[in-house]
Amino acid sequence: MISVAQALEQILATITPLGPERVSLLDALGRVAAEDIHAHRAIPPRDNSAMDGYALRWQDTQGATPESPVVLDVVEDIPAGKVPEKTVVAGTAARIMTGAPIPDGADAVMKMEETAKDGQKVRIFAAAAAGMDIRRAGEDVQPGERVVGKGEVLTPSRIGILASVGRAFVEVHQRPVVAVLATGDELVEIDEAFLAEGKIVSSNSYSLAAQVLDCGASPLQIGIARDTREDLIAKFKAARRADIILSSGGVSVGDYDLVKDIMKEVGNRMQFWRVAMRPGKPLAFGALEGVPLFGLPGNPVSSMVSFEQFVRPALLKMMGHRNLFRRIIRARLGEDIRKNAGARNFLRARVEFRDGRYHVVTTGEQGSGILKSMVLANGLIVLPEAVTHARTGDEVMVQLIDGSLERMESPEYLKD
Ligand code: AMP
Ligand code: MG
Repeated sequence: MISVAQALEQILATITPLGPERVSLLDALGRVAAEDIHAHRAIPPRDNSAMDGYALRWQDTQGATPESPVVLDVVEDIPAGKVPEKTVVAGTAARIMTGAPIPDGADAVMKMEETAKDGQKVRIFAAAAAGMDIRRAGEDVQPGERVVGKGEVLTPSRIGILASVGRAFVEVHQRPVVAVLATGDELVEIDEAFLAEGKIVSSNSYSLAAQVLDCGASPLQIGIARDTREDLIAKFKAARRADIILSSGGVSVGDYDLVKDIMKEVGNRMQFWRVAMRPGKPLAFGALEGVPLFGLPGNPVSSMVSFEQFVRPALLKMMGHRNLFRRIIRARLGEDIRKNAGARNFLRARVEFRDGRYHVVTTGEQGSGILKSMVLANGLIVLPEAVTHARTGDEVMVQLIDGSLERMESPEYLKD
């Protein structure tokens, strides 16, 4: 039996990021850049106006006030997108709209509110300063500047900056295709109208595939393998096309738990089989003809918790991510918890932020087949191997397993 830390280290040591693929800019959202991207142009490309107003020479406006305005000749109208044709010389101005290029000769913009139009002339009611309300060419991005670095996640703002430098596609790390295989003679597909005696729907096929999607990877449903060597081998063969294989069930010590035996055979490689954790002790990890293979436990919660600890970081690493792990917070425990020493425990729990700190309580029955307490959980209380008793009021580690803490019912930033 190995520790959670050792298991994680061994797994991640065998996982390498997938190669690049070219995708269109919007398809890159949330994915990881596999190339450095440099700007081939300046953003903005030219000096332009930050205001609707008049482009002028600031020295012409010295001393201007509402009572004694300066009067300038308007030589041109420059809406956004137009190229200026005239030069602004002393005593003149060009009417200009936000984003329009600054004409030659002008060195400031006076906003509309400080002016009054008077036929072909304009009255200016305030003094300008050099460069006022001019956005400089390249003030956002310089030509040649790196706008996205290899390994960075493509957020909406990065997609915006890539669009502004004219990049319609991006090289990103491929999404892994993840084969999801259920094993067990008791399992049936979801469309079985009447459950025969002793049968259950293979819910793991769905919860695991959903976890795969949630990471940004692509599940490939291989279906259900019967608990026979022949069927298991056939289904594993079908799974070899994937970048990584997940099976659930059949890794325990029961008579029909054949997955780990098959993983020990030729062409396969099993690195370990048991991890000192709860839930999720039986976890086989290895490779099937070079394709990483996780033999996850069959119990619905065990398979999900094992996925969280080991498969998710592996998939994120394959997709080129650098930050592979869920956030851990410290929360005040609202109850007493006893456990045996030796295994790291992950308890389904609900975290809340109240009175300036996090509070956490378990969500009920912790049996590894009880999915309902997983449904109610937004975190897992993590109790290390040596701990045997956590008391009410103790600070405990909680791994946040969904995004619910990132959202709130009301816009609290409005409370001042
Ligand atoms: P096993 O390790 O194969 O004995 O499975 C442990 C427990 O998990 C048994 O109660 C199984 O019925 C259950 N189980 C296994 N696979 C699935 C699955 N795909 N969906 C739901 N429950 C499962
Ligand atoms: Mg089974």
